[in-house]
Amino acid sequence: VIVPLYNEAESLPELTAWIERVMKDNNFTYEILFINDGSTDESWDVIKDLQSKNDCVKGVCFRRNYGKSPALNTGFQRAQGDVVITMDADLQDSPDEIPELYRMITQEGYDLVSGWKKKRYDPLSKTIPTKLFNATARAVSGIYLHDFNCGLKAYRKKVVKHIEVYGDMHRYIPFLAKAAGFKKIGEKVVQHQARKYGVTKFGLNRFVNGYLDLATLWFQTKFGIKPMHFF
Ligand code: UDP
Ligand code: MG
Repeated sequence: VIVPLYNEAESLPELTAWIERVMKDNNFTYEILFINDGSTDESWDVIKDLQSKNDCVKGVCFRRNYGKSPALNTGFQRAQGDVVITMDADLQDSPDEIPELYRMITQEGYDLVSGWKKKRYDPLSKTIPTKLFNATARAVSGIYLHDFNCGLKAYRKKVVKHIEVYGDMHRYIPFLAKAAGFKKIGEKVVQHQARKYGVTKFGLNRFVNGYLDLATLWFQTKFGIKPMHFF
């Protein structure tokens, strides 16, 4: 389970206990890989403390804040499990979804299963632009997902070892997976909660940047190896 985080100290003990409970109840062997993305709060101390209590907890500490995509990418390189789950650190995603996500990968043959926060607990200023964003991402990528940027996703190990998540491309991981040849991409409705501690790390500029990155991906997948054909 890969958890990218930037200043989420208050959430980490609760999240860890919740993941541990789910893993134990389902007899899963697991690792929790915290990628501390240059936090300036006590997150790293909390991770070290959690690590000292449970060998399955592992941590990577970035020297500065690089962003959610590089954090996920580092997690992808290090992950050892046959099924890789990503989730946000802020308790908005529920670890209770893990067993069903695992089953969809191992038994239904999905390469990637993306969470769909059908009922969201976010402000309207975020949920409305998000609908527009997802409609555009569907049209450009040809992948029928309702919620491209859900932090809660499950992957077959092979997928995470064959994609590179750079810049802010975490919003389009299903598109990256499709471009790498992974075709069976599905979604699962997941429970969502309001942020319990701390604040969101992305402002409204997420939507502008999101569209620019989508244009980049569209260009790369269509004309990456024949740029002059664009003209
Ligand atoms: N995050 C990160 N690096 C960043 C920004 C965010 O690792 O530069 C983490 C953050 O701590 C959280 C996840 O990415 O675990 C999602 O961020 P957030 O909850 O702020 O996004 P939102 O839910 O508002 O879309
Ligand atoms: Mg959040």
